[in-house]
Amino acid sequence: MNLDHSIHQLENMDGNGKLWKRTDFARSLITQYNRKGSLSPKQEEWVNIIITENLAAPTVAKPTVTGLTRVIEIFEEASENLKYPKLVIQLGDGSDLKLSRAGPTSRFNGEVQLTDGRPYGQNKYYGRVTGNGELVLTGEGRRHEDELHSILKSMTTDLGAFAKMYGLKSGNCCFCRKELTHHSSLDAGYGPTCADNYGLPWGEKA
Ligand SMILES: [Zn+2]
Repeated sequence: MNLDHSIHQLENMDGNGKLWKRTDFARSLITQYNRKGSLSPKQEEWVNIIITENLAAPTVAKPTVTGLTRVIEIFEEASENLKYPKLVIQLGDGSDLKLSRAGPTSRFNGEVQLTDGRPYGQNKYYGRVTGNGELVLTGEGRRHEDELHSILKSMTTDLGAFAKMYGLKSGNCCFCRKELTHHSSLDAGYGPTCADNYGLPWGEKA
């Protein structure tokens, strides 16, 4: 089979949460191929092995998480003010969770991507919220499934309260990651610029 086609198939499996086995290895092969335009014969063999393995993996009949269109809207509204709306909070295990809006050059344009915040190619990709508010998780994301679900739910319930909680916990604004220093920012849990960009209350008694 044509390697370009196989890599594309792997990328699609990853994007659709169907890359369960050897996820990190597969992603490193994708990155290397996209950078160099080729792979070694051994690596090429692995691409086909990984595809076969994942196609054969049993599908788990867990109900799909839906109803997250508000997550898409939050980032869509912010994209009127910011080129790359994103926020970073901490998971229970202390690792970062980054939510960012995919831009027009991405095939996931407008969708919200969930990663550990490290640079592309080195990061863990947890999954994405699709345009119709569905949470699609990768194998990696499934390990944090309940936590990711509850984080997204609380975000859609009250973005201000959400940003405040994570801001005060870390001491940094979850949107721009700047340290909260002014007393008004310390009260709010985020800064005035981000309040403006994300349509959050500012200067009122919360
Ligand atoms: Zn900020």
